[in-house]
Amino acid sequence: MKNISILGSSGSIGVQALDFISKTKKEFKVCGLSVNSNIELLKKQIAKFNPVAVSVFSKEDADKLQKWCNEKKYKVKVFFGKEGLNKIASIKQVDMVLSSVVGSVGLEPLLCAIDSGKDIALANKESLVMAGRLIMQKAKEKGVAVLPVDSEHSAIFQCIGKENKKSIKRILLTASGGPFYKSDKNFKDITVEDALAHPTWKMGKKITIDSATLMNKGLEAIEASVLFDVPMDKIDILIHPQSVIHSMVEFNDGCVMAQLSNPDMTLPIQYALSYPERKNCYIKRLNLTEVAKLEFFKPDFKKFKCLQIAYKAAKTGGTMPAVMSASNEVAVKSFIDGKIKFDMIPYVVETVIKKHKVIKSKNISKYFEADLWARKQAENIIKNIEECK
Ligand code: MG
Repeated sequence: MKNISILGSSGSIGVQALDFISKTKKEFKVCGLSVNSNIELLKKQIAKFNPVAVSVFSKEDADKLQKWCNEKKYKVKVFFGKEGLNKIASIKQVDMVLSSVVGSVGLEPLLCAIDSGKDIALANKESLVMAGRLIMQKAKEKGVAVLPVDSEHSAIFQCIGKENKKSIKRILLTASGGPFYKSDKNFKDITVEDALAHPTWKMGKKITIDSATLMNKGLEAIEASVLFDVPMDKIDILIHPQSVIHSMVEFNDGCVMAQLSNPDMTLPIQYALSYPERKNCYIKRLNLTEVAKLEFFKPDFKKFKCLQIAYKAAKTGGTMPAVMSASNEVAVKSFIDGKIKFDMIPYVVETVIKKHKVIKSKNISKYFEADLWARKQAENIIKNIEECK
C-alpha cells in the first residue's frame, strides 16, 4: 500500500485523484490533504478517507475545522498557512506527495517533500517553471522520483521509456489550441466565459485561461525542458485539436513515439500514482474509428504572444521564467476578476519581463524574491491600466 498526501485536494486534479483512489482497493492510503478555503469539501474528504493530518490556508478556517473534527471524533491534526502545507508535504509515513496546488505557492512545499525523501507526482507546473533546475537537482540528490501528472509530460515520459536521452531528436508537445485557435474574434472582446469554455479538457480556472492564451503551452514547454533535460529549441509545439495524442517524441533514427487516449486527466494521474504499474482503466477506452481523424497544425506565435514570451523567457533563463510565471498569475487573476481585458494578459507579462534584471543563481531565495518582485510590478501595471479606462 502506498501512503499519499495531496496538496490541493479540492482542485480539479485533487478531486480526480481521490476519485481514482476510491475506486482502487486498499492500494493507497490517504494520509494528508490540503485545501485553500473549500473546507466543506475537505470535511467530506476527511469523512471518506480519514487522513492523519490536513491543512487549510487561514487560521480561522483551521479553528472551525478542528472544532468540527473534535465533534465528529475524527483524530485529524489540522494545520494552516504555508507551514501547514509543508507539514502535509512531509508527514513521516507518506511515500508520495501529489502536488496539485495552482501557482508558485507550490514551490516551498514541493522542496519540503523532496527534502523529506518523498516521491513526487507533480501537477503544479508553475514551480518547475520557477525553479525547475534546482528542483530536479535536489530530487536527484535525494534519490526521489518526480513523476509528471500533466497529460503532455506523462505522454513524453511514457514515450521516452527506457530510451537513452541522447537519442531524442525532438519533443512534439501537442496543444488543443484552446477555444480561440480558429476564432477571429478580437482578443479585446473576449469575455471570461468565452475563455473558460475549453473545447476538450475540463480543468481549473487558471489553467483554462492559460490554455486560451496558450501561455499554458509555453509553461509546458519549459516544464518539458526541465523534466526531461532537453533544450527549448528541441521542443516543438503542435496544434492537435482532437486532444487524443498527448505528445510525441521523435528519435534520431526518425522513429516517432506517441501516447494516445481519450482526453481525461484520470489517466495521467493514475499513471503517476501507480507507477511503475499500470492499473485498470477507469476512463472511456479509445475508439479510433469513433475519433476518425487526427489533425495537426503549426501554432501561430504572432496571434498568441504568450508563446513567444515563454520561449524568450526560457532562453534567457535564470530568474526570468519565474518572473514570467508570477506576472502571468497576477494578470490571469485580474482578467478573471474583470479588472483587465484578455489582450492585456501578454501585455502585463511582457512589460514586467522587460523591466527585470535577470539573476542566475543556485540560491532558491533569489527565485522567491523574483516572484514577489514580479507580482508587485504586475499589480502596478494593472492599476495603471484600470486608471486609464
Ligand atoms: Mg497539460
